[in-house]
Amino acid sequence: MKRILLLLVVCASSATAALQSPSQFLGMKVGDDRVLADYKQIASYFRALEAGSPRVKVEVLGKTTLGEEMIMAVVSSEANMKSLGAIRETAKKLADPRGLTDAQLDALVHGGKSVVLVTCNIHSNEIASSQMAMEWAYDLARATDAETKRRLDNVVLLLVPSLNPDGQTLITDYYRKYVGTRYEGGRLPWLYHHYTGHDNNRDWFMLTQVETRNLSRAVYHEWFPQVFVDEHQMGSTGPRMFIPPFADPVDPDVHPLIWREANLIGTNMAFRLEQANKSGMIYGYSFDAYWLGGTRNTGWWKNITGLLLETASARIASPMEVAPSELQGGTKGLIEYKPTVNHPNPWRGGVWRMRDIMDYERIASDALLEIAADRREDLLRDIATRARAAVAFGGPSAYRIPKQQRDWPTAQFLAALLLEHGVEILQDAGSGDYWIPMAQPYSKFVVEMLEPQRYPEIRLQPGRDILRPYDVATWTLPLAMGVTVEKRAAAPASAARVTSIKPETKAVIAKHAKDKMPRVALYNPWGGALDEGWTRWVLDQYGFAPKSLHPQEVKAGLANADVFILPDVDKETIATGRRRQEDGAMRYDEELPPEYRGALDKEATRAFVENGGTLIAFNAACDYVIENFNVPVRNALARVPAADFSVPGSLLRVKVNTAHPVTANMPAETAIFVDRPIAFDTTPPGAEMQRWVLATYPDDAPDILLSGWISGEERLTRKAAAVAMTYGKGRIVLFGFKPQNRGQTHATFPMVFDAIWWR
Ligand SMILES: [Zn+2]
Repeated sequence: MKRILLLLVVCASSATAALQSPSQFLGMKVGDDRVLADYKQIASYFRALEAGSPRVKVEVLGKTTLGEEMIMAVVSSEANMKSLGAIRETAKKLADPRGLTDAQLDALVHGGKSVVLVTCNIHSNEIASSQMAMEWAYDLARATDAETKRRLDNVVLLLVPSLNPDGQTLITDYYRKYVGTRYEGGRLPWLYHHYTGHDNNRDWFMLTQVETRNLSRAVYHEWFPQVFVDEHQMGSTGPRMFIPPFADPVDPDVHPLIWREANLIGTNMAFRLEQANKSGMIYGYSFDAYWLGGTRNTGWWKNITGLLLETASARIASPMEVAPSELQGGTKGLIEYKPTVNHPNPWRGGVWRMRDIMDYERIASDALLEIAADRREDLLRDIATRARAAVAFGGPSAYRIPKQQRDWPTAQFLAALLLEHGVEILQDAGSGDYWIPMAQPYSKFVVEMLEPQRYPEIRLQPGRDILRPYDVATWTLPLAMGVTVEKRAAAPASAARVTSIKPETKAVIAKHAKDKMPRVALYNPWGGALDEGWTRWVLDQYGFAPKSLHPQEVKAGLANADVFILPDVDKETIATGRRRQEDGAMRYDEELPPEYRGALDKEATRAFVENGGTLIAFNAACDYVIENFNVPVRNALARVPAADFSVPGSLLRVKVNTAHPVTANMPAETAIFVDRPIAFDTTPPGAEMQRWVLATYPDDAPDILLSGWISGEERLTRKAAAVAMTYGKGRIVLFGFKPQNRGQTHATFPMVFDAIWWR
């Protein structure tokens, strides 16, 4: 009914008169201090725009983890909205131009439209973009000026107001609850995504989460945008806005036109911001052109120009005063807070509010549309150029995933994952082997996923330290997943393209299928711990249904548990409830409300193990066990300075003792994922205890690194990486690494599952 009425309004040629602004529609002053629209309100506003404007259409990307509808708005001119099917088809052909003649390609470039994706608010507390998106869409829907109409005639905008709707709701609810109290604008006492919290932006090659998969499908199977801009917020005391060019290091395998386009677009954004009298824009800062795990980054290897925007944060929707003396650099690209060529006009300090963030984001977003319209034919031609280069780069070679291997279900899982990424996969009907032909547009992505990484050691000044990895330094899936993949000269002619792959049940799970499920409890410190969320996700996937216990719940919870897992949380946080900062220091820690404070109940935990329970610790949590339980193990790296040993997320080789139940389903050698690890020196225990070294680093330092980057690897030689022991009537298993890292390390999942099953 509403649609019919609006149609009449359109016929009466006042297309925009009926549109309400976000503030009018929601009855709140969107963008004002202490005002937040929650996700349901945002989605309802986009639905209203869709109903009221022929320039806006809402697509449902899928359901979120907690069952919310995740939406994307398609915004363009009235004429383009009537031919979205043809526009998509053109974008798809340009993304995979195999078989097109030059003349055909020219015609597509000439007739196509730029398709530009903007994603907001993946990190839910970086909330301004979710509010900005409504205002932006409203203005685009009602604009009558020639320049905006020109932009909409040339560009199709795909606008995702939140990549984490569940988290947007969590943050908004919590903010509203505490506004006006001393906890106003403070951090959440738990993760802002049901499983992954901030790590939802580390998932873009593994696609573990439904939100990741929802967007990935829209990008790599449906819309094929040429440009992808992801809008974030960063800390409050540095520059006001990071806009590409990115910082070093750069991946030399990414097509250079990606960086040239990112620089061109980013430079136009900063230019328009400067013209609007905004200060504090910076480039070449902090965020590199190498790491693959982030939202838009993955696209670099799939020929899409991805940009990251990071605007300084307020306290959610509450203003924040930053004293000039508090402004600081200290990060790659800005060591001191001064004018530099990449940061020529520093912000001078003062009050910073959500409205400021929305204004910066809006100007940058408009500048994106401007240049995507100006450079429409360049953007369309360039993605085809990059795709053709990738096809040539791949050549006739192929990767083979042989059916005859240790863990075929996991090999199938890897093939299914690549297929979901839009990679072309073949299967040989006779042998059952999967083949990945390399003469395809995503060949560089395939190499990145399947071959070891060697982190580039870049120094910005002679003699100085190298630039450290932004996040982890490896994503080699065959190693992380324990799958055999072989490079071959060509795929067999008999191999045919597959469109779906359904992996079989993992052997270790199938083996235990008839056993009684152990009751698993998982420690969940206040403030949330990423590794708790990931561990819970992995265990949920394989049917363990763990119960997460906050500090106050531990004692009662352990009475109904067989196994207690301490995820990768540092020992001080476990022991005191206070958070360690990212640089490892303990310093001013913002208070949570009293009901969200507390430390692990040490006595209850010890009694649980002595009376027959199994305690499993991951990575940093091993330190807590070593210090608080009398065990014949010490951390060999405890006093090693960071300058002497560093490994920020790499895959390392260990030898495995397969004679123990915890490691019985492992091969004699495996890759483990190591990120600020614990390495064990063990001592033969007395008669009261049995102790098993489960995994050991190689004798020779050069044998240790499999993929990524490490310095000081000689500190690990012959050290134990995992240890199991009896303790009273119970058991302790210490993993000095991350056997379930971010749901990626299938190679070492069996050790986690078998540690849970160990009796
Ligand atoms: Zn972010």
